[in-house]
Amino acid sequence: MRLFGVFGNPIAHSKSPLLHNAVFLRFEQELKFKGSYHPLLLDREANLKEKFLELHLSGANITTPFKEKAFACSDVVKGVAQETGAVNAWVFEGGQIVGYNTDVEGFLYPLQNYTFSNALILGAGGSARAIAHALKSRFIQIEILNRSTPKLDYFKSLGLKCFTPQDFKIKPYDLIINTTTAGLKEPSLPCNLEMLKALLKRATLAYDLIYQHTPFLNLAKQEGLITLDGKAMLIAQAALSFLYFCDHKLPFEVILQTMQEVLL
Ligand code: NDP
Repeated sequence: MRLFGVFGNPIAHSKSPLLHNAVFLRFEQELKFKGSYHPLLLDREANLKEKFLELHLSGANITTPFKEKAFACSDVVKGVAQETGAVNAWVFEGGQIVGYNTDVEGFLYPLQNYTFSNALILGAGGSARAIAHALKSRFIQIEILNRSTPKLDYFKSLGLKCFTPQDFKIKPYDLIINTTTAGLKEPSLPCNLEMLKALLKRATLAYDLIYQHTPFLNLAKQEGLITLDGKAMLIAQAALSFLYFCDHKLPFEVILQTMQEVLL
């Protein structure tokens, strides 16, 4: 039995165990091992790496607020995670913890059939980093709005325009993305109502990374926008993580379809 899990705080809402366990169960024979995937609530100050090793995990996902920490304490970082500075998947390979970022491709997956020229990212955490890289790779102009300044430094270092609500002036963006945790536990908005309404009136698509109904998406629907919640991204990033967990023993489409069946 190989053990896997998802580290986060909060973590009770996570659908990742459901998605990964469905694939482990259905494809046990093809994989040639039994896998079991668990939610792992971690104290915000806890030592992530120590926990991973203590639990003898073969792989893990890392969610809010630990993605930058996971980047910092990976033994090796591969692929696009080297640019994002945020890791959301760990695989134990040859005695080393190898960090990957599957949020970048996972985020773009549901946007395949749309085109945009510019976007506003609300929030500046680990997932915002992945999304900034994803949108840059599609040559979409990006600006960032966050409630406080410290996490904006990373985006400034990429040469992006960054704002806090105090110095932000409304202008048109095609795509508005909520990467904040506002609306995850309590019914709050990522920024004040008037500002958000003015932004949504000028936009065409609102994308919330949270995979349940949020006040942000409800407001966007009221304003007549196309809306996307985080489910399709969740499934795509999970399927890409699973590819690493099983060392590519199953095709991406097979993993994706199994995960879609349990969640959509
Ligand atoms: P982080 O903890 O790294 O960052 C959170 C960000 O939200 C920070 O910029 C923080 O601002 C801001 N924030 C927190 N609370 C509020 C609030 N009440 N109002 C305004 N801003 C707020 O989180 P992640 O980037 O890792 O994740 C963000 C969200 O995206 C989570 O809900 C997560 O579940 C979801 N997610 C979904 C995925 C999917 O596949 N669908 C994939 C990845 C993430 P400050 O800097 O001031 O603290």
